[in-house]
Amino acid sequence: MGPVGEALPHPITGEPFTSPVPPGSGWPGDPASARTPRARTPADVVRLAERATLAQVDARSSVCSACPRLVSWREDVARTKRRAFADQPYWGRPAASLGDPEPTLLIVGLAPAAHGANRTGRMFTGDRSGDWIFAALHRAGYATQGTSVAAGDGLELHGARMVATVRCAPPDNKPTPDEKHACAPWLHRELDLLSDGLTAILALGGIAWQATFAALSDLGWGIPRPRPSFGHGVTARVTTPGAPATTSGARATGPGRNGSGGREIAVVGSYHVSQQNTFTGRLTEAMLDDVLARCRDGSGGAQSHTADGVDPL
Ligand code: SF4
Repeated sequence: MGPVGEALPHPITGEPFTSPVPPGSGWPGDPASARTPRARTPADVVRLAERATLAQVDARSSVCSACPRLVSWREDVARTKRRAFADQPYWGRPAASLGDPEPTLLIVGLAPAAHGANRTGRMFTGDRSGDWIFAALHRAGYATQGTSVAAGDGLELHGARMVATVRCAPPDNKPTPDEKHACAPWLHRELDLLSDGLTAILALGGIAWQATFAALSDLGWGIPRPRPSFGHGVTARVTTPGAPATTSGARATGPGRNGSGGREIAVVGSYHVSQQNTFTGRLTEAMLDDVLARCRDGSGGAQSHTADGVDPL
């Protein structure tokens, strides 16, 4: 390992970077510049997310410093590194969302892994969970390749976008309730901006499932009562907030819209692609392919919950 603070070559481009990576210094796919405004408190996150464009959410969240414990952890990990990656620079910043800016499928995960996305700067990239999810996305036609090695490796997602519930790597993969709360405005804003094009949301794991419903509830979406419990393959049909009223007071109608102008979207649960689940066979490739197929056709499958109860499909 080189001295802490030493610039090391990026594994794809060979360009040297210090760890954590300064915004706008040339890291492949870095959404921020040196002038991107930085949130230093949870109140800053609210203010900077509120009216942001999708590109601004990407940029601003990637330089966010609102959670002192997580900032300290992610940067310490970036400087000290794991022995296997001691010759690489570590991103050491929040992981911005990855993928299509106009997706039909939004995949909600938990948080970056300390030596995965916190190293590579790209969601689910650099650890075993990424091997599983990108291979499945490739089989389902959402990803241009079945592997994601590092930012700059050519991977693109079409029709799908990945977002984290908490964008910084937490110690022991466990963010605190305050940290989840602080990070929620970034997710809220993305859901707001993407809602018109989505047909499905895939929640990876119980925490992502709960965070998704908490966000949808806060945003005024129609969600089933009681909220369905998380399980692999469980599907809930939620409704986007009604379209804005026209000057005559009428609401938009059309394909997929309900009487108040909202659209139905399937929220599908999947066991997380963690090593704990994939090594033990709790989650198989076939199970992952199945939930992605349900997301692809928007049907939600056979165990759907709607705002009126369990759908008997
Ligand atoms: S977890 Fe979210 S709110 Fe907290 S510092 Fe990271 S990006 Fe900012």
